[in-house]
Amino acid sequence: MAIQEDNLLKNVISHAKEYGFIFPSSEIYDGLSAVYDYGQNGAELKNNIKEYWWKFMTLLHDNIVGIDAAIFMHPTTWKASGHVDAFNDPMVDNRDSKKRYRADVLVEDAIAKLEEKIHKEVEKAAKRFGASFDREMFLATNPRVLEYTQKIDETNARLKAAMGASDMGAMKKLLDDLEIADPISGTKNWTEVRQFNLMFSTEMGSLAEDTNKIYLRPETAQGIFVNFLNVQKTGRMKIPFGIAQIGKAFRNEIVARQFIFRMREFEQMEMQFFVKPGDEMTWYEFWKDNRMKWHKALGLGDENYRYHNHLNLAHYANAACDIQFDFPMGFKELEGIHSRTDFDLKSHEKYSGKKLQYFDSEENQSYIPYVVETSVGLDRMFLSILSKSYTEEKLPDGSERVVLRIPVPLAPVKVAILPLVKKDGLPEKAMDIMNDLKFDLRCFYEEKDAIGKRYRRQDAIGTPYCVTVDHQTLSDNTVTIRDRDTMRQERVNINEIRPQLIAACSINNILRKIEQ
Ligand code: ATP
Repeated sequence: MAIQEDNLLKNVISHAKEYGFIFPSSEIYDGLSAVYDYGQNGAELKNNIKEYWWKFMTLLHDNIVGIDAAIFMHPTTWKASGHVDAFNDPMVDNRDSKKRYRADVLVEDAIAKLEEKIHKEVEKAAKRFGASFDREMFLATNPRVLEYTQKIDETNARLKAAMGASDMGAMKKLLDDLEIADPISGTKNWTEVRQFNLMFSTEMGSLAEDTNKIYLRPETAQGIFVNFLNVQKTGRMKIPFGIAQIGKAFRNEIVARQFIFRMREFEQMEMQFFVKPGDEMTWYEFWKDNRMKWHKALGLGDENYRYHNHLNLAHYANAACDIQFDFPMGFKELEGIHSRTDFDLKSHEKYSGKKLQYFDSEENQSYIPYVVETSVGLDRMFLSILSKSYTEEKLPDGSERVVLRIPVPLAPVKVAILPLVKKDGLPEKAMDIMNDLKFDLRCFYEEKDAIGKRYRRQDAIGTPYCVTVDHQTLSDNTVTIRDRDTMRQERVNINEIRPQLIAACSINNILRKIEQ
């Protein structure tokens, strides 16, 4: 059944809560804005996504190793990285709705609307002209398209200039000139645009006079940069090589209205790849392609991914793009791929006074490596999988079911073991199967309620296989295995269950797809 896009997010949020995936943080105190807790099924899914990333990065690339750096870092780290001075977002309030927005996002949304208009013009013309339609020619000559294109280019240039110069007056003028209205109140009654630093700070030390202001890391990358030489020397790594890390990051986000898409405490999976200066563009292209393959191998649908090149580059980058995903709110950033030049290592060298260089024995010289970064939000991966897996289905018998078609190796529970009835020795037989499987696969045992009801509950958490023990089991040692997606049942001998399900649930099934 097709679900309206705006309803989809709502349905996913309530489903995630009802079935133990995601709860609002400290809910008994009415929650905490943009902070969420992962429940019993959410934690499993999250761990499986981590495993998929970690294995891909560190097992399939023999020149990438993983670390786990602390969240707290010396405060000078954030001076060197530019976060103290430049990790700001332009903030603006609408006086009527009392809602707060990021001014740059409002402008980007306006640009996206213009792009959509061009897309519609092209579609209309393609229909009208049929096979003789020349897309390039149309884009280069159609007066309406040219007008939109010019407006997009102008707006991008003004946005880039205003953000680059931190000119909040120019940002406000841009909002006014584009006649951007608040999507909630519909008015253009905006406050001035102000800069807002996104880092959370706290104090370290027990005595007030000894306290030091420190920050909760806003990205995991800096823990990798400050350990660059530690890892390179102790691991005897040769350039090019990468360091991967999964960990929490914290940002005091201005707008936090999109469930786990934008949180104030979230998790990143980042990899910094150190290369010879001059080689960075080759590696940038390599990682763009490689990361896209990783995403697509999940099988959520290739059409749900696209690249989005950055026009407004961050202070550290000489090229950057996002891999966007078609979330319930539309195409948005899922992962960032950035060519960070030697900005970070050079800056840490300057602030720490320690050399952060690599001796290249082939070139017989030392240099500060360039860096290509891949950075994907674990929570956004979670949302992408949950929202595309969520399916409401009408069945041939007229009943309905909600099924999470989570990629099988990532499902929180892999097998449900269900005795048909709670007597005649069936529970005992089912427990024997469970005890055999539990070392390799996350199992769930349940004997309460009618079998159909139990199947529905497993569909709702995305369990790919249900093993049902019935009276026939006692006579011929066979059980049925029910497939979540097709709902078909197959009778197999108990001895075959273990090898068959282990093979079907292995994360290697997805990893091998990328390698091919
Ligand atoms: P955005 O433009 O959406 O604010 P960003 O460009 O600031 O994101 P990066 O600094 O490139 O994001 O961070 C890398 C990845 O971390 C993002 O692609 C995203 O998946 C994730 N991420 C960033 N901020 C958040 C957040 N507040 N909540 C959840 N995930 C986030």
